[in-house]
Amino acid sequence: MSFDQLNLSPEILRAIADQGYTEPTPIQAQAIPPILEGKDIMGGAQTGTGKTAGFTLPMLHRLQPHANISVSPAKHPIRALILVPTRELAAQVYESVKTYGKYLPLKCAVVYGGVNIDPQVKELRAGVEILVATPGRLLDHIEQKTMNLSRIEILILDEADRMLDMGFMPDIKRILALIPPQRQSLMFSATFSDEIKKLADKLLKQPVLIEV
Ligand code: AMP
Repeated sequence: MSFDQLNLSPEILRAIADQGYTEPTPIQAQAIPPILEGKDIMGGAQTGTGKTAGFTLPMLHRLQPHANISVSPAKHPIRALILVPTRELAAQVYESVKTYGKYLPLKCAVVYGGVNIDPQVKELRAGVEILVATPGRLLDHIEQKTMNLSRIEILILDEADRMLDMGFMPDIKRILALIPPQRQSLMFSATFSDEIKKLADKLLKQPVLIEV
């Protein structure tokens, strides 16, 4: 299979070609078509399988601005939220979004703890469509009223099992309560404990199961 068969936009295919990727990895081949159709996904995949591009590429495709909708540049509502357990993973996912979205007019920001919050506040106030975040720092921003989560169309939980292991469940519940229920949700986890299944039941609607 080639990337050309996946119905991704020319801007995204160009960014993939720049990376030198010739064909989708198994998780990408399985995940991209249902995500493009708007379906929820439960993906069992380890790091190193290409899962980041597996959710980032179709997310970018679905967020492309429609020619007939004009949004004033000062009002970029957050349309996609990617929650990750650690600042290292947040930085990596952010780099991937920028790499694959470099030909698209979508702004992305990353927020995580352990660093000064003020520059993050400034960037969010200027408007971003895609936000990569660790749960604790996201809640700090919510308390500071830096952001509005009421326009989220796509929610992604990456390494959900690690988030639960690190005790983020209460934070995740608080965040979920602020996001519109009418959204697409994607969840990735390397393991499937009962707790993960419970979270998936809460989060996902008739998910497509993908395991690689
Ligand atoms: P991930 O599992 O998302 O952390 O990705 C692991 C590595 O695979 C990253 O360094 C990506 O740049 C690379 N990668 C992702 N998709 C492809 C692909 N289709 N072909 C070759 N390399 C890829």
